[in-house]
Amino acid sequence: MLFIISTPIGNLADITYRAVATLQECDYILCEDTRHSGPLLTKYSINKPLYSYHQHNEASRTDQVLKDLLDGKRVALISDAGTPGISDPGHQIIVACHQADIPVVPIPGPSAVIAALSASPLPTDRFQFIGFLPKSQGALKQALQDALAYPGTTACYESPFRLSKTLKALCALTESAPVAVCRELTKVYEEIRWGSAKEVREHYEQHPPKGEIVLLIGHFELKLEHAEEDMSHQEALRILAKRLNMSRNELYALINKKSSC
Ligand code: SAM
Repeated sequence: MLFIISTPIGNLADITYRAVATLQECDYILCEDTRHSGPLLTKYSINKPLYSYHQHNEASRTDQVLKDLLDGKRVALISDAGTPGISDPGHQIIVACHQADIPVVPIPGPSAVIAALSASPLPTDRFQFIGFLPKSQGALKQALQDALAYPGTTACYESPFRLSKTLKALCALTESAPVAVCRELTKVYEEIRWGSAKEVREHYEQHPPKGEIVLLIGHFELKLEHAEEDMSHQEALRILAKRLNMSRNELYALINKKSSC
């Protein structure tokens, strides 16, 4: 049996009883970096053999793990933080298990994308997760255009070193799109800063961010900015609010007011 176990994304207390019990009872643990997972496992008195399982040995490890699983061993998979397989290794062994009829059991818990969505003001009734944004300028622009066109919230993982460049590219498409930067979630310097792309960009140009970031981008109809010129301000707000699934007051605050976070 393969257990896919979510571990904390910062605060070591964010782990479920079931996750701890499963880690204590398994035959061995696969983790990305044995040094990184050490403190968590020590804190919860988990003393099991640890084997590395990361993007560079995922393919070669899978065969041996599969043999162990077929022999009836109980194997736990964790990543450095959050949920394995979510922008982290795991997919390959999970597919192999399903193909071999080996049960794959999720032990759910933290994931940065869900934590960010759950606490941001952007709509969550419909969302997509696109992992890390592409680095090249052309691919980034396309990804941002797709995010704006998506009729819900788009969540992506972002590096603090690239956030400014990404917000600049977004502002080149529209300065008004609603965005939220969810930074260092569950940690000491946790921050959720939201507003229009322009407001959030200006803030981070003045205060370069550190730490880990989930960037959320709201739906925004690019051509509506031009249509707005031909209609009253109130009418444009009404249409936009409806499309963003927000009240007019919420939208007005998002677009026109300084971020209050
Ligand atoms: N599997 C993980 C999960 O389920 O959240 C994600 C792993 S991915 C390699 C790491 C990225 O997740 C970071 O670069 C950052 O974008 C995001 N992330 C992880 N922890 C975070 C946190 N505490 N606050 C904000 N973003 C975080």
